[in-house]
Amino acid sequence: MAKSGLLGPYKLNFDTIDAAITRSSAGVYALGYTSPEGRFCINHVGRADTDVKTKLRNCIGSATLFKFGYTPNSKAAFERECELFHELSPPGNRVHPGRAQGTNWACPRCRIFAPR
Ligand SMILES: [Zn+2]
Repeated sequence: MAKSGLLGPYKLNFDTIDAAITRSSAGVYALGYTSPEGRFCINHVGRADTDVKTKLRNCIGSATLFKFGYTPNSKAAFERECELFHELSPPGNRVHPGRAQGTNWACPRCRIFAPR
C-alpha cells in the first residue's frame, strides 16, 4: 500500500489522541489496524474542517489505530482527503469525499465536481 505521509500510527483512544494532537486545527486522518505481518493497514480516510482532534474522538471504537496530519485550512483538508482517497482506495470509503457545504472546491485528482 502507498505511503500516506501522515503521522502515526497511534492507538485510537482518548489518551493517545490527546497526547498526539496538540493543536486545534483542520486536518486529515486515516483509521486502520495492524495486519498479521505487523503493518498499518488503512481502512478509512476522512477530514476535519475545523478540529481533527474532536473528529477523531468521535471515531473511537470504529478502528484500533489512526494516523493524522494537520492542514492549514478546511480546503487543504479536503484536497488532502481527496489525494488519500485516490491514492489508497480505502475499503471503508465507498463514495468520493464531499465538499464542505457552500463551497465550489474541485478535486485535485478527478473531475467529479467539474462543471458540465
Ligand atoms: Zn476525486
